[in-house]
Amino acid sequence: MAEIHLKSLAHSYSAQPRSAADYAIREMDHIWHQGGAYALLGPSGCGKSTLLNIISGLLSPSEGEVLFDGQRVNEIPPEERNIAQVFQFPVVYDSMTVYDNLAFPLRNMKLHESKIRSKVLEIAEILELQPLLDKKAKNLTADEKQKVSMGRGLVRDDVSAILFDEPLTVIDPHLKWKLRRKLKQIHEQFNITMVYVTHDQLEAATFADKIAVMYGGQIVQFGTPRELFEAPNHTFVGYFIGSPGMNILDVKSCQGGVEFNGVQVPLDAELCQFLDEVPSNNIKIGIRPEFIHISNETIKGSYECAVIHIEDLGTYKILTLDLAGNLIKARLDEDQQVPEGRAYVSFPKQWLKLYVDEFLVEEAAQ
Ligand code: ADP
Ligand code: MG
Repeated sequence: MAEIHLKSLAHSYSAQPRSAADYAIREMDHIWHQGGAYALLGPSGCGKSTLLNIISGLLSPSEGEVLFDGQRVNEIPPEERNIAQVFQFPVVYDSMTVYDNLAFPLRNMKLHESKIRSKVLEIAEILELQPLLDKKAKNLTADEKQKVSMGRGLVRDDVSAILFDEPLTVIDPHLKWKLRRKLKQIHEQFNITMVYVTHDQLEAATFADKIAVMYGGQIVQFGTPRELFEAPNHTFVGYFIGSPGMNILDVKSCQGGVEFNGVQVPLDAELCQFLDEVPSNNIKIGIRPEFIHISNETIKGSYECAVIHIEDLGTYKILTLDLAGNLIKARLDEDQQVPEGRAYVSFPKQWLKLYVDEFLVEEAAQ
């Protein structure tokens, strides 16, 4: 069992990195606490596998330290780190039976055969592999092979953490759900730190208590699914989480707030003062489709929009609206009246977020 601390960690695959763009992992500090069920969520190429490989020791970071329970492990080889890693594509010994594949890590540890047997049977039962124990791995389907691969990660008692790198990619969608439930159950049963890499927000939210969202080699937010939804710390989190994602508009600072195409959006004095002092011109506001208030007639603080498109999704509708030349999405619940042609939108203050250089500007009072 271990807490995994990534301290001033950075990694470049280039021998002589020249700029930030040469780094697959930009300098970060991050702690995975002992016993947590975590997801590492981000698009392809953002550095997820690089980060896992650094934790397991397959890759040596170019800068910074990896600490397990406060002890530096940079120089410790992967086989001595007590970390199990499950990859996107199954790693099994084709010529061995399923039983022998599962027993392999335990035999390496020189455990007694009777102990090995009970452990193998326990894991086989959880993963429903018992009927296949005598089969040669080469005769298994891709799904079954991946279950064996996961089983080999789970069978050891001595692991400090299990890292899953998009393990369900090759798994049939129906089974995916079931296996994810199983992983969660295993997590609850054994209290092992688990880091589950995925590019699928639903997969992340169903597995993890806390999600690290990664973008461009950085962890841009580490929070519960609810925190990521309600207060995205970075425009990427706003855009990536949610369906559809957050509306994000380019704006300019103006007296009392921000404006775009002649539309003025007031902001609290504290935020205005912040904007007065900040040198950046990269200013955005964000609001989720779920939080936009829509009405058929003009009300105080509302903006008139043209209704461009209505998508009926059964229990709710997604409206596409033209607000002064910007297309925005708003969610309308089943019982709400559907505006015809024109709609009036307003942005409740608590859900309107301000971003400077893509990061959230938080108000002290919140
Ligand atoms: P992810 O797992 O999120 O898809 P990776 O960690 O595989 O992302 O890759 C992060 C970045 O590092 C990408 O730009 C990728 O092209 C680059 N990269 C990954 N592996 C190597 C490698 N062995 N050599 C050079 N560049 C690499
Ligand atoms: Mg990857």
